[in-house]
Amino acid sequence: MELPYAEPFKIKMIETIRRSTRSEREEWISKANFNLFNLRSEQVFVDLLTDSGTGAMSDLQWAEIMKGDESYAGSASYYKLKAAVKDIFGYDYFLPTHQGRAAENVLFSVLVKEGNLVPGNSHFDTTKGHIEFRKAHAIDCTIDEAFDTTVDHPFKGNVDLGKLEAVLKNNPKESIPFIIVTLTCNSSGGQPVSLENLRQVSALAKKYGIMLLYDSARYAENAYFIKKREPGQQNRSIKEIVADMYALADGMTMSSKKDGIVNIGGFIGLKDAGIFEQASVFNIMFEGFVTYGGMAGRDMAALSQGLYEALDYNFLEARVGQVAYLGKLLTSYGVPVQMPYGGHAIFIDANKILPHIPKEQFRAQTLAVELYIEGGVRGVEIGAIMADRDPVTHENRYPDLELVRLAIPRRVYTNNHMEYVAAAVANVFERRSSVTCGMEIEYEAQILRHFTVRLKRTAALMAHAK
Ligand SMILES: *Cc1c(COP(=O)(O)O)cnc(C)c1O
Repeated sequence: MELPYAEPFKIKMIETIRRSTRSEREEWISKANFNLFNLRSEQVFVDLLTDSGTGAMSDLQWAEIMKGDESYAGSASYYKLKAAVKDIFGYDYFLPTHQGRAAENVLFSVLVKEGNLVPGNSHFDTTKGHIEFRKAHAIDCTIDEAFDTTVDHPFKGNVDLGKLEAVLKNNPKESIPFIIVTLTCNSSGGQPVSLENLRQVSALAKKYGIMLLYDSARYAENAYFIKKREPGQQNRSIKEIVADMYALADGMTMSSKKDGIVNIGGFIGLKDAGIFEQASVFNIMFEGFVTYGGMAGRDMAALSQGLYEALDYNFLEARVGQVAYLGKLLTSYGVPVQMPYGGHAIFIDANKILPHIPKEQFRAQTLAVELYIEGGVRGVEIGAIMADRDPVTHENRYPDLELVRLAIPRRVYTNNHMEYVAAAVANVFERRSSVTCGMEIEYEAQILRHFTVRLKRTAALMAHAK
């Protein structure tokens, strides 16, 4: 028979995690104001809050930690990372930052002005936050298929070229500082963008004289999907595909906490010397000198190794395979999840599970809380709480999708953990009609409210509410 994939590593060190009782979890989540971000990690058994900064480093990365050069200026680890960025992405200009949103803050300080429009495919929440904080607008041009969780489209992260061109054509060029394409598209479910789509977006960007940037957190997973799903790409290496993808753009922001497989870090990559020079000033103000940008030398060194490990086909096959393993289990239990399965996470469709909870009572958040109580599994709401209020009208925004994201950290959990998680989700799914209270907001911050929101259970569900 054909041999299945298996993780291309064995385990050298373990970290103990503990199970808790349901009554303990009831108490903890109530004290946490029903916000899963407020839980202590010891109160969580399987932590699928995020795949960001939660991955396990390799022995070679830990070796790099020891080799890190902590010089304030001109660190050898900076040059090693700069060389890796040039080799993998092809960009000559590079600025380290302490994480992805810091890269956004630095670069957008140069590029984004009040009233600007920034088109792209479902902008990530911090990206949108940094755009709206500057009183500019993020315009979502993702293809419509992305918003139907049942449609099985190979590249649901793709940009709708018609929507994009309408924005480019109907607005003055000066009002559009750049187009940003997120790889893979986090907000629409870890869905990839095809190389063909990137080519077309790049062509449109050139036609209208607008810069193209990539929000690059999961560049390697995106390239893996291109290899697996795009005609003509099967026999090419991940590294070759990444090189093609990045040749089409003018720059990148990166959260290294994802496909960099490190616990902290980010960077900016650019082709243009002028923008690099302007960004350097903001980097020094906000992050640190240009050769460390808020990162320790050892962390830059570990990242220079991690960027290459993420390009390993066997790693990607096991990683994406484990996510799909969880997805298939959930599907077999009848749980509605976004199709096809994402690269880093499975997204449970809360609109389909809790349609009897009014959308104003935050279905996905309600489901995420139930899942925690059921099994100590921590996921995250990607729904109306995260969608925040409209910056102009201050009305709540209700996105088409109410999802609970189960993000899988890289190289951390085994498939037994996936089986445990799937069983906990299945139990909640079985008792879904007995979930009769939604959530209401007691306190929210002005921007990025989901991190600190305080919630309480609604008193009782109105009968027949739809
Ligand atoms: C995580 C992430 C960011 C922000 O990066 P941080 O390192 O969390 O600051 C930006 N964009 C995407 C697509 C991300 O996944």
